[in-house]
Amino acid sequence: MVNQTMQQLGSSPSVIRELFAYGLQQAKVLGPENVFDYTLGNPSIPAPAAVNQAICEILKDTDSIAVHGYSMAGGFDATRQAIADNLNRRFGTSIQARNLFITCGAAPALISAIKALATAPDSEIMAVAPYFPEYKPFVEKNGAKFVVIPADRQQFQINLAEVEARITANTQAIIINSPNNPSGVVYTEETLKKLAEILTAKGQEFGHPIYIIADEPYRELVYGGVKVPFIPTIYDNTIVCYSWSKSLSLPGERIGYVCVPDTCADAADVLNAVAGASRANGHVCAPTLMQKVIERCVDEMPDLAAYDENRTLLYDSLTAMGYRCAKPDGAFYLFVEAPNGDGRAFSQKAKTEHNLLVVPGEEFECEGYMRLSYCVSNAMIRRSLPAFQAMIDSYRK
Ligand code: PLP
Repeated sequence: MVNQTMQQLGSSPSVIRELFAYGLQQAKVLGPENVFDYTLGNPSIPAPAAVNQAICEILKDTDSIAVHGYSMAGGFDATRQAIADNLNRRFGTSIQARNLFITCGAAPALISAIKALATAPDSEIMAVAPYFPEYKPFVEKNGAKFVVIPADRQQFQINLAEVEARITANTQAIIINSPNNPSGVVYTEETLKKLAEILTAKGQEFGHPIYIIADEPYRELVYGGVKVPFIPTIYDNTIVCYSWSKSLSLPGERIGYVCVPDTCADAADVLNAVAGASRANGHVCAPTLMQKVIERCVDEMPDLAAYDENRTLLYDSLTAMGYRCAKPDGAFYLFVEAPNGDGRAFSQKAKTEHNLLVVPGEEFECEGYMRLSYCVSNAMIRRSLPAFQAMIDSYRK
């Protein structure tokens, strides 16, 4: 016998992964130039040259045993200090090395934060639709109930009335992801301030803090000078989960952190609980080499020109054809209305008739849309445009 819940979770790949696998299969049969794969959020710009240079220098200059050895569970002091200095320079905060716990990316950071706050079987953790689909298993398989805030379909900001209505005495936290996967929207300071007011009032009413878990792997991926508010400066009880998977194009290297500033209620306890939750999940330490790379490269910023060019090409081309979508300010996703209001049907038809692979909005609990990841080659976007045209034409007949 095995654990049935885990067996089920492990044997039902996400729709995103299924579409991606289908694309690989079709590429073998038809040639990669005839498959238009917009499924995965796998960065398509190279890591900055400084990162590769740092890797080479560290391997050359550092004792080989040390560079491949364990670090402390929470990470090297020097790495944590470099991250704290970077945050304080940019956001005027007073974060210290001890406020940071270095993780193997944002996913384990989120799981540790969630598990740290799942205090009882009826603990509730909220997420705002459309949301990253892994939040659901992260929450449900780590001891809490998953509560969804329905999407604000006008602006894709946060549906604040729904947040207020759905908070209960069991609400422990709300996960906020900005810039957002899948909408590309950046939550405004005004939205976040109003959210903070609601959480403060509800926290007082129920006699315990309601935390924001700020999931920020796309923080640095913004266009046209848009500012991403740093949520701990707006709401004290904020736990930040960060990753360099997207900002430095390092998803396979597995490096990120949880930050619990001192301004957070019960900060020391929360940090200890994050460390304990990580330990319970088998975390030993984040990769030593990558910690040393981040220490040197924490100020590196991605060159977003290629993503920006893709964003404009895809947005301009699709809207000219008659597709409707908001121009995203961040991340590398376009969230487009399905012409017939059925994202699943559109995705299926596009796949079977044109080898055009798009993820139905239903996967993000926002029906009637589809997500296009534009971290792809500009040439693929150009080749795919006739397929998008044929699709919208077919709905007009
Ligand atoms: N959160 C969001 C919103 C994501 O889109 C992703 C990855 O796509 C993650 C978290 C996980 O990132 P990581 O690779 O750092 O675990």
